[in-house]
Amino acid sequence: MKLALLSPAAERQERRDRLRRDRAAALALREVFPAVQQLRLELLFQGSTSTTPAPQSHILHAPARAFFEFPCPYADCDGQFDLSAAVKAALADPAHRATGALGCSGQRAVRVGARQPCQLRLNYTVTATCQPDT
Ligand SMILES: [Zn+2]
Repeated sequence: MKLALLSPAAERQERRDRLRRDRAAALALREVFPAVQQLRLELLFQGSTSTTPAPQSHILHAPARAFFEFPCPYADCDGQFDLSAAVKAALADPAHRATGALGCSGQRAVRVGARQPCQLRLNYTVTATCQPDT
């Protein structure tokens, strides 16, 4: 049996690689949601400490992968935010917009061998631009 003794940096790299593989395997946005021209995801973070991560903005066009998982911006956290449900909600909404909040369920490696719940809050806004129904 192999012991998992990866350094936090190696663990982080592994998580990012996995997300990248999942993203590469995802279908294109235009295959999953043919009516969508563009998706805009605005991510605002709210932490309990003074080091709140910077806001992020992601714009996905029709050829982009329909993949909506984002790693927690804390480098020492193993959590991720899944915005798939938020994207579906935005597309189901007459205004093509959804807002909401998610909490990070990951664990942060505060020091070697010690982890604590991250609980970073994400406030998101998803806006979809769809083809006009003509
Ligand atoms: Zn986190």
